[in-house]
Amino acid sequence: MTKEFEQITIKTICPVCNQTISEIWVAKLDSVIGVRYAYICINCKNLIKITKEKYLDADNLNQIGFSQLTST
Ligand SMILES: [Zn+2]
Repeated sequence: MTKEFEQITIKTICPVCNQTISEIWVAKLDSVIGVRYAYICINCKNLIKITKEKYLDADNLNQIGFSQLTST
């Protein structure tokens, strides 16, 4: 299992700390069930979402507060 961290620029509001952030960390999690991407708030360091896709657009990120983790 490997982990890679990457910083991407995206303007959104963190659903955990409610701060407007312009960058987010993406951690690649390579596991036996397949690759997953964990999105981590650069401000509060909390996990925001785990997805199968590498990049979300701002619209998807802005829906996180409503959809939570049910879509994965
Ligand atoms: Zn946050």
